[in-house]
Amino acid sequence: MDHFGQMMYAPLLLPSLLEQAARHAGRVEIVSRRVEGDIHRYTYADCHRRTMQLANALTAAGIAPGDRIGTLAWNGYRHMEIYYATAGIGAVCHTINPRLFPEQVSYIINHARDRFLCFDATFLPLVAQIAPQCPHVERWILLGDASALPDDFPVPLESYEALLDGQPQSFAWPELDERQAALLCYTSGTTGNPKGVLYSHRSTYLMAYASALPDALDLHAADTVAPVVPMFHVSAWGLPFSAALVGAKLVMPGPRLDGASLTELFTQEGVTVSAGVPTVWLGMVDHMRRSGERCATLARVIVGGAACPPQLAEALGGLGIRAVHAWGMTELSPVGTVCTPSHGYAEKTAEERARIDAKQGRAIPGIDMKLVGAAGEELPWDGRSAGDLMVRGHWVVERYFGAEGSALENGWFATGDVATIDADGYMQITDRSKDVIKSGGEWISSIELENIALSHPEIELAACIAAAHPKWDERPLLIAVRRAGSSLSAKELLDFYAGKVAKWWVPDDVVFVPELPLTATGKLQKLVLRQRFGQHLVR
Ligand code: AMP
Repeated sequence: MDHFGQMMYAPLLLPSLLEQAARHAGRVEIVSRRVEGDIHRYTYADCHRRTMQLANALTAAGIAPGDRIGTLAWNGYRHMEIYYATAGIGAVCHTINPRLFPEQVSYIINHARDRFLCFDATFLPLVAQIAPQCPHVERWILLGDASALPDDFPVPLESYEALLDGQPQSFAWPELDERQAALLCYTSGTTGNPKGVLYSHRSTYLMAYASALPDALDLHAADTVAPVVPMFHVSAWGLPFSAALVGAKLVMPGPRLDGASLTELFTQEGVTVSAGVPTVWLGMVDHMRRSGERCATLARVIVGGAACPPQLAEALGGLGIRAVHAWGMTELSPVGTVCTPSHGYAEKTAEERARIDAKQGRAIPGIDMKLVGAAGEELPWDGRSAGDLMVRGHWVVERYFGAEGSALENGWFATGDVATIDADGYMQITDRSKDVIKSGGEWISSIELENIALSHPEIELAACIAAAHPKWDERPLLIAVRRAGSSLSAKELLDFYAGKVAKWWVPDDVVFVPELPLTATGKLQKLVLRQRFGQHLVR
């Protein structure tokens, strides 16, 4: 004790972020497009007051520390209130991805033992379907007022607004241990059952701090931040916390995530920075090109969740929007790397800079990375050696929710991604480890082959998988979706690879399909493709 510094101490608790915003940026707005169809606007000060009303209501309803409250909801102010109120009273906000199969949604609700379930009206049919399978849920709460409640429903429903009505607008947030659980998010589970990752106040708080830094998401008080990445999947990359931390205006897009709706909302609200998966930006680029509309304020979009194809970054650049590539995962809550310039970047040629911009970026402070080879040896940071990407840090999972053992290997978490890291610390994902194509013992990057296909003007979507091959074990096979009206042949597409990669990397064949299967988080479902087309080359 004698050797401790003599400075104030307070645990790193999430409600203090909202309290800070309410006191120091109290008039700054949080604007939400609601399921009801209208635009709702209020301030951080209002948000804090209603969050305290909810904290009172939940406490009065018997929610105790550690209890889970599930949500099936879009990005919006009510969802944000649930984040802060549940975590603030020591309970856990369990965000559920409504795009999962209904059986997975009920599995997750039962596995987490959610006591209350809060949901948007969009998900009434889903709730009607799963409620009978979720006997532990005591209360089903519709995020709306009483007039939104349906007359006839398989389980009793109540309205969120009625829950808040009459509750006191002040609440003394308990002084919890900063390691107390705050949020729970399940991985998308392409194989096996989804696994839960239980974030603490401390881990989320520290990620909010680090991710707001200039060389991370670069958030400012004067920014208007629009999280398009859903709050039901890894807390919208922590933006409800990092935006509050800096006191930025928040714009929540609700259920309408198509290019036209986003362009309209962003323009109306003066959005300066947004974040989302590549498909969202493809939709916006497409809309802007077709309509001629632009969003003059939108300077930057953070692109992550899947690799950002270089031509998407280029297309956004042509519309005056800088694409910033980032990488993360549920197990990191989620931000790990962001691609921002380091020393020497300004002196590089445009081509070299584009090559750097295509990488997933440098670790943000608080995250450490390394690459490991097949024999467990650590690989050099030379930008060429590809190996298993391992991470550690303040917001990396230690064990999965409900699991007995640790998820770590000698203190590191194996991400399941295969990557290179260059001498400046820029990491580039080449594959998921289970998607790597091993041809004659050499590795071929499926992401690189997909990016080339996507740079063809007549290709809309492409996936490259390992197909069984009698001589080489595996060879790359391209599964592609042509743009409407295109009659591009397999040979023409394969000829397009000439000079872009080594000859032996060129896929053996192309199968054109009308659409590609996507996971609930919008990633290519390569497992399904391997099951369908894995034997294509041996037939
Ligand atoms: P999830 O836990 O569902 O968010 O998925 C995380 C996985 O998405 C990562 O392990 C990567 O395989 C992939 N991913 C995320 N961001 C990127 C990116 N920028 N480039 C390539 N893959 C990414």
